[in-house]
Amino acid sequence: MSTELRVINPSNEELVTNLHLLDEHETDLAIERSKKAGVSWRAVSPADRARLLRRFAEVVDSHVEELAKIEVTNSGHTISNALWEAGNVRDVIAYYSASPERLFGRQIPVAGGLDVTFREPIGVVGVIVPWNFPMPIASWGFAPALAAGNTVVLKPAELTPMTAMRIGELALEAGIPQDVFQVLVGKGSVVGWRFVTNESVKKVCFTGSTEVGKAIMAGAAEQVKRVTLELGGKSANIIFADSDLDKAAASAPMSVFDNAGQDCCARTRILVQQSVYDSFMDKFERAVKAVRVLEPMDENSQMGPLISSQQREVVASYVDESEVLFRGSAPDGPGFWFPPTVVRPKSPKSPVFCEEVFGPVVAVVPFRDEEEAIRIANDTPYGLSGSIWTRDVGKAIRVARGVETGALSVNSHSSVRYSTPFGGFKQSGLGRELGPDALDSFTEVKNVFISTED
Ligand code: NAD
Repeated sequence: MSTELRVINPSNEELVTNLHLLDEHETDLAIERSKKAGVSWRAVSPADRARLLRRFAEVVDSHVEELAKIEVTNSGHTISNALWEAGNVRDVIAYYSASPERLFGRQIPVAGGLDVTFREPIGVVGVIVPWNFPMPIASWGFAPALAAGNTVVLKPAELTPMTAMRIGELALEAGIPQDVFQVLVGKGSVVGWRFVTNESVKKVCFTGSTEVGKAIMAGAAEQVKRVTLELGGKSANIIFADSDLDKAAASAPMSVFDNAGQDCCARTRILVQQSVYDSFMDKFERAVKAVRVLEPMDENSQMGPLISSQQREVVASYVDESEVLFRGSAPDGPGFWFPPTVVRPKSPKSPVFCEEVFGPVVAVVPFRDEEEAIRIANDTPYGLSGSIWTRDVGKAIRVARGVETGALSVNSHSSVRYSTPFGGFKQSGLGRELGPDALDSFTEVKNVFISTED
């Protein structure tokens, strides 16, 4: 088996670097170091742990541009997106730096003594990251985990290890003690799977495909290991006739083509109320054709290439079996480019309408009324995000309550804020990341009763 990883720049297909892939033995050694480091890390006072995390956020802040440029080269993200992503890492660490001093337990009234709860760290946490948002998704796992007193071994995706490696170095520079936060570059089936099977890893925080997530959940059952799963999505963008149609049409392209559609929250199914379908599609076509698919380092670029040639083949196969309505543009020449593409599914069961494409492809269908919109939106095993466009507040709330997903937005496409919970219903995941709730899944509640009797 090859122990070397070739990292490729997806916008020009040039070699970025060669890296060593860790084997199982090296992974076990890193996990052992993590376990050992946990003994002193959990003993660091809350105020000092908070201070170290604040310093970590400051060091990341002073490297935002550097990290963004690494991401452009490694992942083909547009520079404006990559700058946001590096800033998000800083913000997530800063947000959770407030947690060590606020990990409150409860005092519960009972007879005969004092009853208190503690939020204990779990131990070594394995964080497994996909290639689509290497920086933010890493931080959504490692920041709350570290804040709660756990140590972290983090495995970036094989295609996109570069920013995680640099963030690991910045942690050390900020004073996070050696081995408290380690970045392990390796294959999912080797390093990632060892997080599942090694008994010293007490929790796996996985983001990736539903298929691998199911295998991890099944594997973790063996040790009743804690898991958080953030998996795939097939989110609906529901546009009612009474909405601000100009705004809905202007914002729809980037709700699905952002990051070249390689976004678990991408609104890949647009549901338009029949009476405004034609008028919406006119406006939408103009907006799609205006999307600037350019070299990712160009500040005007709104969309870069796909991550790999393999991903481009997968995306193309969905388009081949669909009726293409219109497309945007993409550069010629080297790089894994794919133009923004709008299709009409041949049937409600068409793969392009049911499966996660993970590329710049969106399927549009009409609906009659509120009830049908909710039915179509829910006709999927996924339930991650979605949008609702209407000026009727009551309808917005009814539909938001009716759609079975974890993160919805009304008259907007926002899904992710570091201060609010994020995660999926149904097969889109298990547990919540970000916001105040994330700490729950990185701690165990311990109840202690102290007798007051003589
Ligand atoms: P993937 O499941 O192939 O890989 C994700 C990570 O898991 C990688 O680091 C990979 O090396 C590792 N892995 C693979 N096989 C493994 C195994 N047997 N054991 C342990 N680890 C293993 O997914 P991907 O193609 O990198 O990412 C795209 C997927 O991620 C999409 O389905 C997308 O929807 C999903 N995603 C979900 C969210 C969310 O928050 N819900 C966010 C981003 C991406």
